[in-house]
Amino acid sequence: MLIPSLFVKRSAGPAAPQFPKIREGEICITWIGHASFLIQTHEVNILIDPIWSKWLKVIKRLKQPGFEIHHLPSIDFVLVTHAHFDHLDRRTLRRVAADQPIVVPMGVGNLVHDLGFHIVHELDYWQTVELGPLKISLTPCHHWGARFLADLHRDFGGFVIAANGRTIFHCGDSAYFPGFKEIGDRHKIDIALLPIGAYEPPTGREVHMNPEEAVKAFLELRAETLIPMHYGTFRLGFEPLHEPPQRLLRSARSHGIEEKVLVMTEGKPVVL
Ligand SMILES: [Zn+2]
Ligand SMILES: [Zn+2]
Repeated sequence: MLIPSLFVKRSAGPAAPQFPKIREGEICITWIGHASFLIQTHEVNILIDPIWSKWLKVIKRLKQPGFEIHHLPSIDFVLVTHAHFDHLDRRTLRRVAADQPIVVPMGVGNLVHDLGFHIVHELDYWQTVELGPLKISLTPCHHWGARFLADLHRDFGGFVIAANGRTIFHCGDSAYFPGFKEIGDRHKIDIALLPIGAYEPPTGREVHMNPEEAVKAFLELRAETLIPMHYGTFRLGFEPLHEPPQRLLRSARSHGIEEKVLVMTEGKPVVL
């Protein structure tokens, strides 16, 4: 299996992606970079943890987003997994906001409300909201949600999105924890978007999975396809940037699930 190159030099901005026509029951996934995804069904467009910013405070973005923000199709729903700056990017959200509903964990709503989102669904763990043809549930994870040291009231999680009999799981950020089995018990997941980077954090806290733990989580979720994320864009851990996908594929091979891993290239839509 080929791992897309991490460092592609681009002189001009990336070209507009060719979003394919989507048939009923299909799901089109476009990785924007980091934990940002555009998910499309034949009826709706969903944006998760969108970030187009070049900087996270003092951390520079090393890889450009897969396409320009103005190439986005019209967005029906926005989902944000938690308040960390690499997931809740107020500058990006302000540009995306067009009065569509946004779904966030408890305690995060006031960070998006003033950006132009007036329909804010704050979910508790395992709570589900029905938005048009979608059922969106918040799942627990092992992480933390404070944007600043003192703001400990903000929850954090992942999302299970069910649409037309297909189910996608966006994990958000998480360390490995036994909860993946319960998520897999409660939801029959087709596609799991799992973080595999930032596992050697400067703080030494256990807040992100490493690639081997992501494989373990995937097996416990009993999903069909593993799409890795949260690596190669921002240097948030001490590990070399190219290491996470290599370790992921090595681990997947040793478990005999290499064909289930889909390493995406930013800006290239994939229909599943
Ligand atoms: Zn986080
Ligand atoms: Zn993160």
